[in-house]
Amino acid sequence: MRALRLTAWGETPAPTEVERPVPHGTEVLVRVEAAGLCRSDLHVIDAAPGTLPYRLPFTLGHEVAGRVAALGPGADGVGLGERVVVHGPWGCGSCARCAAGHDNYCDRRDTLAWHGAGLGRDGGMADYLLVASARHLVPIGDLPADQAAPLSDAGLTSYHAVAGLRPALGEDTTAVVIGVGGLGHLAVQILRATTASRVLAVDVREDALALADRSGADFGTLLRPDTARALRARSGDVGADAVLDFVGTARTLELAAGVLRPGGALALVGSGGGSLTVAKPGVLPPGFRLSLPFWGARQELAEVVALARSGALHVEAERFPLSAAPEAIDRLRRGAARGRTVLVPD
Ligand SMILES: [Zn+2]
Ligand SMILES: [Zn+2]
Repeated sequence: MRALRLTAWGETPAPTEVERPVPHGTEVLVRVEAAGLCRSDLHVIDAAPGTLPYRLPFTLGHEVAGRVAALGPGADGVGLGERVVVHGPWGCGSCARCAAGHDNYCDRRDTLAWHGAGLGRDGGMADYLLVASARHLVPIGDLPADQAAPLSDAGLTSYHAVAGLRPALGEDTTAVVIGVGGLGHLAVQILRATTASRVLAVDVREDALALADRSGADFGTLLRPDTARALRARSGDVGADAVLDFVGTARTLELAAGVLRPGGALALVGSGGGSLTVAKPGVLPPGFRLSLPFWGARQELAEVVALARSGALHVEAERFPLSAAPEAIDRLRRGAARGRTVLVPD
């Protein structure tokens, strides 16, 4: 089978031939129908040697949908031929967090040489993906694969971030989404579908603002020196109840801190290298709350899939054949990707 294997840090991989895995024990073999390409794949490819705990080589791809193709003799909970999306964060599998489906917050995270499928363990940018257990799978029914695959990270990460903010987002509240790409455009839709807040969007690209508009944002604006003032005006002059920062640079964090109302909450999702200084007293509003959500729980993935199947979520996906992965990676690098890039085995 073909697989996009990372063999050297800093080198964009190209598909190569590898042996198709055979499931043993509780393992499940999934025939991949689509695998999403994520900005964190670029961070992994570009990582300096020694900065990530992963051992090379491994196959990239942490957003995967497909069909169950073979079962190990001890596998249960999923049927042959069933269509599934893969819950990508893989923890130790035995701590209390993993047992509850919260592999994203595994208690043994620091001792593992991986963070999940395609992140230190073989992922789904391949014809087949071997999964350790059916507990990592969520059924998708007839949801198209290019819609389902991005739900497992772009959808799930956004959903988990919104879930932490939901108590603050009742009637007549304001949520600001910074960065309307693969995750951000789904965050806008999830805010619309699961909260009562008005949704304001910020990006540096005009076409991303058009995407925010199509996704249901009430207002979109380019990131400019006066953006905090414009957003504040749109919030009824009180400021935002919540900000979701999918970029995480010094500039976007400064905007987030400048637009939040007292008691407001910031969910920092993007790893753009910016930092905030926490001091009391300081520039952050009183009652300021910060969360650093990472990915999401298996149950939340099931909820995201249900939202998508109800028609409340639409992923703007650009499809590329797996053989064109290097070009797709290059497009994402240049900022030319629209919505989510999805690789399809050819
Ligand atoms: Zn990702
Ligand atoms: Zn664990």
